[in-house]
Amino acid sequence: MALDDYRKKRDFTKSPEPAGDASPKRKKAGAPLFFCVQKHLASHLHYDLRLEWNGVLLSWAVPKGPSIDSRDKRLAMHVEDHPIEYGTFEGVIPEGYGAGIVMLWDVGTWEPEVDVDAAFRKGDLKFRLNGYKLKGSWVLVKTHGFGGAPNSWLLIKHKDDWSGPLDIAEFAPLSVKTPNADFAEILQGKTPDLWLNNPPAKTGDTGEVFKKIIERALTMTAPTKARKAAKKR
Ligand code: MN
Repeated sequence: MALDDYRKKRDFTKSPEPAGDASPKRKKAGAPLFFCVQKHLASHLHYDLRLEWNGVLLSWAVPKGPSIDSRDKRLAMHVEDHPIEYGTFEGVIPEGYGAGIVMLWDVGTWEPEVDVDAAFRKGDLKFRLNGYKLKGSWVLVKTHGFGGAPNSWLLIKHKDDWSGPLDIAEFAPLSVKTPNADFAEILQGKTPDLWLNNPPAKTGDTGEVFKKIIERALTMTAPTKARKAAKKR
């Protein structure tokens, strides 16, 4: 089953992440396909690109995030399929696999430019994105282990009207789900019940990591806080 790996890695009594439908449904041919990018502040900050296909989300972890500069090749590690319901998830994973903060960074529809199953097997998937932040034509190319792990791919923006020398992650760093929320606001905001029942791990490696995440989230929000403080004065 496509989602076995996903479920094996997680304890849904401790994580707010969705378990997903037991039997994922494919959409009718021609129906718009969902895509998202989740900015994930875990032990390392990365961006998770997810493309709906055959009722699940094909997923790649992109350490530096997508770049709209066609000269950049961004490493994208292919990871386990995620349930469709994951695509709009935003919140805090208090402990365990992926512990940290997830922000819905971009969302929209995608269109394959090639036969997806064949392209996926070959490791050369061309597609178009229509999100708030990411648009136009892209390619995911498998490196076939050359200079990397067997699951390593490169995410590259094709040169078009939607490419350019702009650091999109820097230019548009905030949530598209909770308007303009940063990590600290997501941390403080959305799921107080879960926080109360399952406080983030305080001990061990996860506790250490989480402490650093919270500290980092607070430094990342500093300009916003300064703005709010300035407004109050
Ligand atoms: Mn992730």
